[in-house]
Amino acid sequence: MKKGKKLYEGKAKIIYATTDKSLVIQYFKDDATAFNNQKKTTIEGKGVLNNRISEHILSNLSQIGIKNHLVKRLNMREQIIKLVEIIPIEFIVRNVATGSITKRLGIEDGTILKEPLIEYCLKDDKLGDPLIAEEHIYAFDWATKKEIEKVKKMILRINDFMIGMFRGVGIKLIDFKLEFGRFKSNGKSEVILADEISPDTCRLWDSITDKKLDKDRFRKDLGDLIPAYTEVAKRLGILHEQSNVSAVNITKLSSVKRKRK
Ligand code: UDP
Repeated sequence: MKKGKKLYEGKAKIIYATTDKSLVIQYFKDDATAFNNQKKTTIEGKGVLNNRISEHILSNLSQIGIKNHLVKRLNMREQIIKLVEIIPIEFIVRNVATGSITKRLGIEDGTILKEPLIEYCLKDDKLGDPLIAEEHIYAFDWATKKEIEKVKKMILRINDFMIGMFRGVGIKLIDFKLEFGRFKSNGKSEVILADEISPDTCRLWDSITDKKLDKDRFRKDLGDLIPAYTEVAKRLGILHEQSNVSAVNITKLSSVKRKRK
């Protein structure tokens, strides 16, 4: 299977065609953006870590029956994924109130929610991904009721699984963002989990110290992001505990390997 032309470039990833029409390659960039693209930079090694962490989470979810777009990781920066039609909604899942919800509703930062809260935002950068009600989804045909019912069930299972997975390694899963897409095969359309799950799309706090191990380090200038993402990868057993291999070294290593081929 060969890598074809670039189909789409987003803020953190690039999608390339392949010779198989139902599969594409997802490339993880080092670019970091926040506040609807107003804050931007490049953080060397971020894409490598997100590729590995997202692969780990999505393959674990697949083992508990959550269908998703990941086929396999190709190298340090790329994955083969199923081509889906993305549902234009960002599904925000919250276990603890922080970030935008605290400002929007005046809720105290760190409030533990009685039940996971799902919020919907329209995926539209020009509009700043506005918060919408479930009714808007049906009013404007962004997804069907049947699709959203299925997505909600999947979200609750994903959340339960991820809370446990992170709790086991001393991390609190505060909130995260999910995207879903329609995978079409044999004339049928099936909703599956898509995009990525990584410290770019989750809020992850150390269980004891509440240290932020996610993209808030960049958003709020809390200090280096790579050591925090590396810590998440190490705790999940993706990188060896003792290894001093930094993400930057991994990046260099992968480019050496590529040149040798
Ligand atoms: N999130 C994301 N992409 C977005 C918006 C939010 O991955 O475009 C994630 C974010 O990292 C956090 C959760 O969704 O884990 C909730 O974000 P929130 O709505 O609080 O947004 P913020 O405070 O970052 O504006």
